[in-house]
Amino acid sequence: MAVTVAREGSIAIVRLDNPPVNAIGLSVRQGLMRALEELADAADLRAVVLTGSDTIFAAGADAREFDADPVAPHLPDILDAIENAPQPWIAALTGAALGGGCELALACRKRIAGPKSTIGLPEVTLGVVPGAGGTQRLPRLVSLAPALDIIANGRTLKANEALDVGLIDEIAEDPLVRARQIAESEDLSAILPLSQRPQVADDQAAVDAAKERAAKRMRGQDAPQRAIELVALSSSMPFAQAMLEERQTFLTLRQGAQAKALRHVFFAERGAKKPAWVEAQPVDVKTVVVIGGGTMGASIAYALDSAGHGVALVETDADAKERASHNVGRLFKDAVKRGLMSEADAAKRQERIQLLVGYDGLPEAELVIEAAFESIEVKREIFSTLDRVMPAHAVLATNTSYLDVNEIAASTSRPERVLGLHFFSPAHIMKLLEIVRADRTSQEALATGFAVGAKLRKIPVLAGVCDGFIGNRILFRYREEADILMMDGSLPWLIDEAMVDFGMAMGPYEVQDLSGLDISYAQRKRRAPTRDPNRRYIPIADRMVEEGRLGKKVGVGWYRYPGGGGSVVDPLLEDLITEEAHFAKVTRRDVSTAEIRERLMLAMINEAADILHQGIAEKAADIDLVMIHGYGFPRWRGGPLHYADTLGAAAILARIEEFEKQGPIMWKPSPLIRELAETGGRFADVKRG
Ligand code: NAD
Repeated sequence: MAVTVAREGSIAIVRLDNPPVNAIGLSVRQGLMRALEELADAADLRAVVLTGSDTIFAAGADAREFDADPVAPHLPDILDAIENAPQPWIAALTGAALGGGCELALACRKRIAGPKSTIGLPEVTLGVVPGAGGTQRLPRLVSLAPALDIIANGRTLKANEALDVGLIDEIAEDPLVRARQIAESEDLSAILPLSQRPQVADDQAAVDAAKERAAKRMRGQDAPQRAIELVALSSSMPFAQAMLEERQTFLTLRQGAQAKALRHVFFAERGAKKPAWVEAQPVDVKTVVVIGGGTMGASIAYALDSAGHGVALVETDADAKERASHNVGRLFKDAVKRGLMSEADAAKRQERIQLLVGYDGLPEAELVIEAAFESIEVKREIFSTLDRVMPAHAVLATNTSYLDVNEIAASTSRPERVLGLHFFSPAHIMKLLEIVRADRTSQEALATGFAVGAKLRKIPVLAGVCDGFIGNRILFRYREEADILMMDGSLPWLIDEAMVDFGMAMGPYEVQDLSGLDISYAQRKRRAPTRDPNRRYIPIADRMVEEGRLGKKVGVGWYRYPGGGGSVVDPLLEDLITEEAHFAKVTRRDVSTAEIRERLMLAMINEAADILHQGIAEKAADIDLVMIHGYGFPRWRGGPLHYADTLGAAAILARIEEFEKQGPIMWKPSPLIRELAETGGRFADVKRG
């Protein structure tokens, strides 16, 4: 039974019992209706306590039901019935009360929360608005401005924050015991249900500010704007009428493209775990050796320490060790500044990370993560040394961005224990982890990679070996196409603007300025000997580097950074680009925003399709996660292959075939796109591996 009812003297306890998270699906809604019916005639009952399991009240609606038509009984009607029941209801929030769970609590006369409870309305993060009165009851409880803040930002509050704004009435060690006491001793029926309270005071300034904030923070998304408009109705429209608006908005958004994309990402994240075919047990990793204490090594070491692993960091000489110590120290300083730990804790933790020069004095460790220079010679040498000095059971991982993990593995006598663990920068913050499976990587090594990823709370994605794995391979093609458009007539800032408009967190040139143009320069030089001489090559970025325009760190790259502050467009760059076009005998033409968007997206999709086709990724959702969590692809568009499914393979193929006429080498349609165009299939249903 998803909902149970127990009579205890003059009160009844209604308990939600739908593991694992008490999602308010059909069975819970039916159970609540039955409970209401059962208690309707109980004349001797003073009050009803509504509660959840020991650790969770209710985590919200069951998003799996969102793709189908709504089925009665509907939550708004249930809440209406709770407010109008013969006995007043009180909520004992034993854990998280989110979305529909929070709305259920709002239909009760009082809310008592446990110290660890969380309460909030995160609906906008799934592309919808609260659909069971949240937009009308919450402002009547906490006033307009706090309600706007919570609903438009999809915020989840800790119990003490919820108490401060008045969303809950009390925090109690055992909220059920306390709610029972209140139910037995207080006259809860004297408290007016929220729906019967008067409209709230108007606050146009708060509404305008919320709209502006949402337009910035959740750029391009519909739900936050609609949510704000609905909350604003609580000061201008009677409850019942506003409820109709809310319901209509909820149902419309729920079927919309943005909500579908956000649901897709939500489920993809939940499904990101060790594939079922990896059956081996992971090595029990307690201590990790990190090789190299630069940007990546330092933040990987910090993340490992935070997750409770012992860490030793190996550098080449005393100076490098000093720099590594500084790099690690900076991360701890930041943590102190952000209030994440005390200075004393930071000092203690930093001391725990053992810094070494060379391999003497290594601790017993079960895993090595190498983050030294991106050079195959350096990596080969490191791995052959590791093979000698590390115990036979140790797993050896490389954080390489592009290099061949098979070649690295071949420099050891244990290629089955070698894999890639590709972190993103900064590694202690970025959630994505590409787990790279080389030809001979064993299940045990893979399982170990996934186990460490889970311990670090990463989103793990399995990738095969190729130049750039999943993310950097797509990025390479995306940038290549951007450079072609720049040469043919556009400008870096116009391309950036078009892609930011599409929803990317940043444009491709802004990103390069941030990471430094020298990184991709080195990679292009590395690829030069194997580059197809017939493939179009745009030398503008090379010239930038050769002229010292390395990006933000030197004050000039694709933009200028006067005084180290914000960026400004550099008119000199237009001359440089025009000059390069002249050398290349290109007649520059008009390139529209629509063309930039279309070509860059289709370049990304075609590469992603090849990656899936070749089994480098096992499923489309994995590629979507990589691009969203590693490269700023808009979550509300669901990732490149979810987006591709909204366009349809046939339409994509037709456009790519058009581009192929002008650029047959880079615009070869992926065989998978052809296949899906013929069968009418979707990327979402393709499985490899
Ligand atoms: P970095 O230059 O900041 O740091 C490299 C560190 O490795 C330096 O401190 C250097 O002294 C040390 N080192 C070099 N050779 C060594 C050796 N033989 N033994 C021990 N230490 C040695 O580089 P980074 O940006 O941290 O990148 C490291 C690796 O991570 C590269 O393979 C890179 O491709 C990859 N990576 C980088 C990023 C990024 O955004 N920076 C992201 C993902 C992966």
